[in-house]
Amino acid sequence: MVHRQVADVVSRIEKLDSNFHQPATIGEATGHPMWSVQMGEPGVGRRVLMTGGVHGDEPASVEAVLQFLEGVTAEDVRHFHFDVIPCVNPSGYERNTRENAAGIDINRSMSDDDVIESVTLRKHIAGQHYDLFFDLHEDYEATGFYMYEAERQEKLLGPQVVEAVKQIGDIDSDENTDEGLDMPLSEGLFRINPAWRSMGWSAYAYFEGAEHAVLPETPSTPWPLQKRVDAHLRVLRLVLDHYTP
Ligand SMILES: [Zn+2]
Repeated sequence: MVHRQVADVVSRIEKLDSNFHQPATIGEATGHPMWSVQMGEPGVGRRVLMTGGVHGDEPASVEAVLQFLEGVTAEDVRHFHFDVIPCVNPSGYERNTRENAAGIDINRSMSDDDVIESVTLRKHIAGQHYDLFFDLHEDYEATGFYMYEAERQEKLLGPQVVEAVKQIGDIDSDENTDEGLDMPLSEGLFRINPAWRSMGWSAYAYFEGAEHAVLPETPSTPWPLQKRVDAHLRVLRLVLDHYTP
């Protein structure tokens, strides 16, 4: 039985290097406040939005965001300003469910005014513009890593990212995991589908206000937690390095 506590996530957020970070609650989630962390100086560097734990049963997504934040360096905040929500679905995180405690899949409800997490997310990014957006996920049915990506000028880093993750583990063999919704581009890489815009957070955030969106998916059944976290961290670092002058 998994005993994960949102309090542990909040306590790690509060312990981050106080030189770079400002934690705040940005609104409500089911049964909890939703926390965000700003790292770096507003107006300095490229703006990065990062979210984990949209699905509560995808723990490596939350753990990777926390480990990423714990490793942010002075060099990073010279080049980037991070706007991070480590755990979008705290009630699902504690219950180890994909859905929130009300039984709603936040990632299928972005337009729904009755879903408090969706309302909080929409308010948070309203009028904002991000150079980069990461939304971290896991897939319990996957045999290996895969990812979704979208970039305004179609300058995709996916093929390079997939090659780099091969040093950690296998790439998922499934060519089309969600028939009709997934748009395969190359090995382990899918396009973020505009048809998800009203349903999925990543599509919503990308089309509302991000230049480049990267959505890594790690296989939560075959890989141990830290291996999945390492894959997420590899993706984040590789994409950030691409944008580091
Ligand atoms: Zn997910």
